[in-house]
Order: sequence, then structure tokens, then C-alpha cells
Amino acid sequence: LFVSFEGVDGAGKTTQVDRLADYWRAQGREVVVTREPGGTQLGVEIRRLLLHGDEPIAARAEALLFAADRAQHVAETIRPALDRGAIVITDRYLDSSLAYQAGGRELTADEIRELSMWATGGLLPRRTYLLDIDSELAHARLTHADDRIESAGDAFRRRTRRAFLDLAEREPERFLVVDASAPADDVARVICQDSVNLVG
Ligand code: C5P
Ligand code: MG
Repeated sequence: LFVSFEGVDGAGKTTQVDRLADYWRAQGREVVVTREPGGTQLGVEIRRLLLHGDEPIAARAEALLFAADRAQHVAETIRPALDRGAIVITDRYLDSSLAYQAGGRELTADEIRELSMWATGGLLPRRTYLLDIDSELAHARLTHADDRIESAGDAFRRRTRRAFLDLAEREPERFLVVDASAPADDVARVICQDSVNLVG
């Protein structure tokens, strides 16, 4: 089973990823928890360039760097884990690229989607949990310093939230939108139950 978590920074993705992993480990399953960007050694270096580099990055170069991170992530981490029957849970995947790299910037969602499908050999999650929350509330929850992308401001964060919701509307079979302003226990319960249904 391959699932992804998406949402703006501060939505609680990391907490919920851990809760779902704990649940399945307690059932005796092998669980691989990973993230983008930075799910591999190469990815860690790409992440540093993308989020904390000093040089400006052109939109197409940025999209290619995220795609390169994802290609390595699938080849090195995700595919091998799925092949041995593990449950793979990733904190962000291609929808983040669609929401951020195509969200009101100069590239279209179709271009980004094609790039990502090429990079991954067409691998999509069986389920994508979109943790949806008011973007200001999410931002207020953050304790860490902003990275280069997320510090772009309120309007950018609102647009990003909207972009995620639009993606979910387009693929209702893959997405489950969860109200992330609810208590973490409630959010975790909904997600665990859904994943149980998926595993069958
Ligand atoms: O969730 P995390 O803090 O690890 O993500 C790092 C940042 O990278 C996010 O704040 C997000 O703005 C950005 N990002 C992006 N495109 C992606 C993945 C992440 O712009 N495909
Ligand atoms: Mg962040």
C-alpha cells in the first residue's frame, strides 16, 4: 500500500504520518515512512538547494529539481519497499508539485504532472490524505523558521490551499480530504479507518 499526505505547512502532516505508521506497525506490518523533498541521500542535497540555497532558481529548474528528487525517491526508496510488501507513507508527493510549482506560477499543472509521471514511471499513491486547514491557522501553528518557498506570504498560502482542494476535486477516488483543524486523535482515527478499508 502506497499513501501520501498533502497540505500546506502546519497542517499536521508529520504528526499524522507518524500516527498512521504507528498503527500499522502495531499490526505487525513493515512500514516505510518517507518524505519529499529529501527522501534519499541525493534528495537531502536537492532539498538543501531548493529550500535553503542563496541563488535564485528559475521556475523550470525548480520543477526539474523537485522531479529529480521524486525520481530518486521512487527508484531508491518507494518501489523497493512496495516490492517487498511494505506499507509506504510519504509526507508530500506529486500533488505538492502541482500545488506549489504550478500554483499561480509560470508553469501549468499539465506540464508539472507530465514531468512527474515521467520521473516516477507513472507511480501514483493508492490514497492521498489531504489535510485541509485554514492557511493562516496552519501558519500560526508553525514553530520552525520559514523556508524560501513557504515564506512567500498569506496570499501564496491561500492559493496553495485552494490548489490542493482543486486537485482533490479532480481525483475524488484517490483523495480523502480531512479537516485538519479537528483534534489530532480524530484526524488519525478517520485516516486509520480509511487505510484499513484499503488494505481490506
Ligand atoms: O513539508 P516540508 O516542510 O518538508 O516541505 C518543504 C517545503 O518545500 C514546503 O514548505 C513547500 O513549500 C515546498 N515544496 C514545494 N514543492 C514540492 C514539495 C515541497 O514547493 N513538491
Ligand atoms: Mg516546511
